[in-house]
Amino acid sequence: MRMTVLASGSKGNSTVIASERTRVLVDAGLSCRELLRRMALAGEDPAQLNAILITHEHHDHVDGLAVLARRLRIPVFFTEPTHRAWVRMLTPRTTMTYAKWLNHLQREKEARATATTATIPSQELDLAATGAAEFEAIASLSAEAATLDAQVTHLTGEPALEEEEEPCDGAPVAAKADPTYLPAVEYFRPGTPFSIGDIDIAPFTTPHDAADPCGFVFESEGIRMAIATDLGYMPPNVKAALKRIDVLLLESNHDLEMLRDGPYPWSVKQRVLSRVGHLSNDATAEFLARDYDGGSAYIILGHISASNNDPALALLAAEQAIGGRMTLLGNRVLTAGQAAPMEPISL
Ligand SMILES: [Zn+2]
Ligand SMILES: [Zn+2]
Repeated sequence: MRMTVLASGSKGNSTVIASERTRVLVDAGLSCRELLRRMALAGEDPAQLNAILITHEHHDHVDGLAVLARRLRIPVFFTEPTHRAWVRMLTPRTTMTYAKWLNHLQREKEARATATTATIPSQELDLAATGAAEFEAIASLSAEAATLDAQVTHLTGEPALEEEEEPCDGAPVAAKADPTYLPAVEYFRPGTPFSIGDIDIAPFTTPHDAADPCGFVFESEGIRMAIATDLGYMPPNVKAALKRIDVLLLESNHDLEMLRDGPYPWSVKQRVLSRVGHLSNDATAEFLARDYDGGSAYIILGHISASNNDPALALLAAEQAIGGRMTLLGNRVLTAGQAAPMEPISL
């Protein structure tokens, strides 16, 4: 079995899980083009992917989803509430006339942009890590703007930028105008295991500010790999799910002091710290020290905040928590980054 983290962090998440016969992509939070580029870099063949699984609808997990799924013509597995939330996010409200809506959107976008740049440099915005209402508003506005751009350019007969870069060959013309069109959608429920090919998948609920967020345990031929990022704390069901895991991708989002002293507005800090925000280095270390069974070959620390953390700090906290249990064969701790794919990890 193999795990290849293509990207991890608040600007995009995506991981390939592969068994002998089956390959799935968990989340598609970079553009289709970038996802394909990173798969090529990591030696993963996109044509071999059987499905895409989505943990939750935040932008850093779904930004390339529709284009990639259409291009590869593979099904997307969501929970039903996550699928609905994603569709809502991409569907502009239609109670206004089209021209009025465009106007309204532009004015709101400008107002938000002004308000935001007044407090934080835009490149410092750790969008998903914030989860804050105001940033979600910006994010959903920009998604809606992108959707509208696509529709507008379709109306004028010019291809939308992303589709020009990543054409959805074979998609019906009507589907191209619908940003929520997917070749196939399958629903699963957290707590109810299912299979894709020879991979058994156990989705578990995570505490996070999304419609129906989840993590996954993947098992094939006795090897178990898990993804647990985007969670505000470690509830009993997640602790229970993360037993006997051979490769664990685990969130270590922020350093508490860096977050406290960092650039986020107070409300955003509160949200990140909340029970539906993200795991701090300390919270991750506490799990590793007290609840983790010590049986993993690899622990990959992920969703490390660019603004409020340093991979070296995350690594130090986790290694201290694991303490004497680190060996050449077990409990190796790695960090996943935003900028480049990791080396595939095979067991
Ligand atoms: Zn999230
Ligand atoms: Zn995220």
